[in-house]
Amino acid sequence: MVTERSGAERRRDADGDGCVFCRIAAGTAPATTVYEDDTLCAFLDIRPIARGHTLVIPKRHAGTLDDLDTALGTRLFSLGHRLAKALRRSALGADGANLLLNDGRSAFQTVHHVHLHVVPRHNGDIRTFTTGFLFRGRVGRRPDPAATAAAIRAGLDRLDAEAPTTPSDTEDKEPHA
Ligand code: 5GP
Ligand code: ZN
Repeated sequence: MVTERSGAERRRDADGDGCVFCRIAAGTAPATTVYEDDTLCAFLDIRPIARGHTLVIPKRHAGTLDDLDTALGTRLFSLGHRLAKALRRSALGADGANLLLNDGRSAFQTVHHVHLHVVPRHNGDIRTFTTGFLFRGRVGRRPDPAATAAAIRAGLDRLDAEAPTTPSDTEDKEPHA
């Protein structure tokens, strides 16, 4: 079933008027940045399901996957892939990750600027994960975002220091800030 967006919603989704993720990408709204390049940005979710929950966005506004350039979508996932690998190599000690993209209101997208969730997972974390999912950062100790981001960046550095495992690992590698 296709959910109709109103004309006003479509226009707002298309041009990004008042979009908080556009402001984060432009550096005019605060965020704890994990990674940035010319086209992409990754920052910590303000209400994390788990410590290290990161959002990957294209810097240029796209409301839904319908509005996103396919090549940019590939790069978006590629960065999510790298972050999942970096989380395993970071001091956060992730054993895995959930990568999730909610596309459209029918899919529970609440911020209408395309974003890929990268949520670190640990073996046996079902209870803390479920609590985090239900309460979204409202319970428990709030981990220090600066230290969390630094740990993920160190994981990216470790990943970059490893010998490439496939030819595309070298071809696709992005320079990062
Ligand atoms: P969605 O449901 O659209 O897939 O997820 C939107 C995500 O964006 C939520 O996980 C929410 O916590 C996060 N979020 C909403 N506003 C902000 C913000 O201003 N800054 C950051 N860092 N995350 C936000
Ligand atoms: Zn936007």
